[in-house]
Amino acid sequence: MERTEADILAEWAWLLTGRQLLLSSLPVELAADLKATRASLHQIQIQPAISDDGVNSSRICQRCQSPVPNVNRLPSGQYYCASCLTMGRVTSRDELVHLPAMTYAKGNTLTWQGELTSAQCRVSNHILQQFHRHNRHQQLLWAVTGAGKTEMTFPVIADFLQQGQRIGFVSPRVDVCNELFPRVEQAFKNTPVGLFHGQIHEAYRNEQIVIGTTHQLLRYDKAFDLLIVDEVDAFPYVNDAMLQRAVERAVKPTGLTLFLSATPPRVLLRAAKSDQLPLHYLARRFHGRELPLPRIELGDLMHGRHFAPKLQRIFDRLLQSSRRFLVFVPQIAVLEQLGQLFEQSYPQVVVTTVHAADSKRLEKVQRFRDGEAQVLFTTTILERGVTFADIDVVVLSADHRNYSVASLVQVAGRVGRAREFPNGQVIFYSRYYTNKIRLARQMIRHLNREGGF
Ligand SMILES: [Zn+2]
Repeated sequence: MERTEADILAEWAWLLTGRQLLLSSLPVELAADLKATRASLHQIQIQPAISDDGVNSSRICQRCQSPVPNVNRLPSGQYYCASCLTMGRVTSRDELVHLPAMTYAKGNTLTWQGELTSAQCRVSNHILQQFHRHNRHQQLLWAVTGAGKTEMTFPVIADFLQQGQRIGFVSPRVDVCNELFPRVEQAFKNTPVGLFHGQIHEAYRNEQIVIGTTHQLLRYDKAFDLLIVDEVDAFPYVNDAMLQRAVERAVKPTGLTLFLSATPPRVLLRAAKSDQLPLHYLARRFHGRELPLPRIELGDLMHGRHFAPKLQRIFDRLLQSSRRFLVFVPQIAVLEQLGQLFEQSYPQVVVTTVHAADSKRLEKVQRFRDGEAQVLFTTTILERGVTFADIDVVVLSADHRNYSVASLVQVAGRVGRAREFPNGQVIFYSRYYTNKIRLARQMIRHLNREGGF
């Protein structure tokens, strides 16, 4: 007997709802059914993945909304989109399948046992108020690192869950997603939560809360009632118009997009100033202490084949007081070398190194967190979103161009995050006192003032 759209929906709505997927990527039997019933489909939409206006051959990729220039042509004559290639190739032979979003069971609530500070409560109430009463569909939360912005979003998420709505929580950075996932899962034990990014291959189950990288949003279309975009100032999102369009498309027109950042990009701050974007400010760290102001130590990195004596003395002091510390280096090229030099200089200390492409990255970070390694040399991949209790931070070559003002502020924010250990020191070790270093210290002072210190 021939299948109808109702049959297909009964079996597959969970996979298609709120999404935009390549027909060729769907399960074979579903793709076959869609092709057979194509003429009689009403709810499920199938459209060419690359549109062609036929007039002046301007083609647009319908998945990522990027133009497809004439040179993007395969030997077969098909055009392909180079912009969203990492999510699987889209060609002019492909089609995108979309089903409008549905609702979920109502009433799932917060199972989180923690308590919000009064500042966190005030901000989350204010966000909901701006949305429900004043119809503000995009808002910005500027929270200093360690202010507890994730916990602060829990009441906002709970408000949407109670109405059977769907939540996306995305970040440009994989580490942030990995760290976020268990916390959100723990906070909403009765709600299915999914984690999606390029390094894991979890099966999709139409989870009501979706955590993932901003790239994953290319698979969604008007799916989310609440879309939280964490670390909006981080690479690659900050300079990527395609990802920014993906955010706009993934959220429903009636939904709320909440941008989070400890160091918001200028364009958002400008929008906030001109009142296009309500700005909420969470300046006080949740334990009420201020952000540590980095200490500047000027000096050379090396002396011959050793660390310069001044730097050596800094390491000596930290080790003598049995501190655990992160050492940031500006380039992956020198990471191993500096880590090894440290190992030779201090053979009694357990040291490890980690960088973005490191296959043992999660394991090594965990070893440091567990206290098995006392020192961790890292590139800026650990500059944000990662929490360690009671550590110090040393930034080597803080004058290097690979550090931005935002990344210097973020790095400083790694220190003093736990309630039991609000102290800790940050040392910027550098040959020159640069403008970026000055601006980073100025921003930290400003934030500490806003926090009422
Ligand atoms: Zn594309």
